[in-house]
Amino acid sequence: MSEMRLREEICRYGRSLFERGLTPGSSGNISLRLDDGGWLVTPTNASLGFLDPARISRLDEGGRLVSGDKPTKEIPLHSALYETRGSARAIVHLHSTHAVALTMLPEIDPRAVLPPMTPYYLMRAGETALVPYYRPGDPAVADAIRGLAGKYSSVLLANHGPVVGGESLEAAVFATEELEETAKLYLLLRNLNPRYLTPAQVEDLVKTFGLELPSHQNREDHDHG
Ligand SMILES: [Zn+2]
Repeated sequence: MSEMRLREEICRYGRSLFERGLTPGSSGNISLRLDDGGWLVTPTNASLGFLDPARISRLDEGGRLVSGDKPTKEIPLHSALYETRGSARAIVHLHSTHAVALTMLPEIDPRAVLPPMTPYYLMRAGETALVPYYRPGDPAVADAIRGLAGKYSSVLLANHGPVVGGESLEAAVFATEELEETAKLYLLLRNLNPRYLTPAQVEDLVKTFGLELPSHQNREDHDHG
């Protein structure tokens, strides 16, 4: 896909996410890795609903601005995930209501913030990690993401929002949407004693679709001694 086309894709998905209320105001940002090692990233203080393809920030491999507007201040979230998650080609970060709400609940397991509720959550987002709260702009949040060692393609920042990587922009957007909708389902069903997928049903998905879930990777490490 040409760079112009990729710029248009960022604007199209950004508008779609914004118009469905998935990230308010000028919150949220999108990045995409280019074949030359550089990136396209949405500018600082730009609403995802009103992006201009020509003004998207173009960075070189070292993260220096080559053209376009000044990039988002949340670049460290993106670079930390790209560094540790080699397969990620695009990253979406939103301030989406249900995913943010989830981060504030006391029972959340930081290594799997959601139970296995639907097959598509596991197939698109996998399991999701939670990192603690950091003040906006605190570089320590990038270290917290690096600390997950690339095991997770989707990460929730406490009291802030999701950061989700994918092998394409479409994959990152769809995974972020699955995470948000599954968070919504969790909140709808919380304390109603719902039936989640059973371990056998999860195992079947892992085997059939070759899912790389962190919980299963750990177990394999154990099995192999
Ligand atoms: Zn943010």
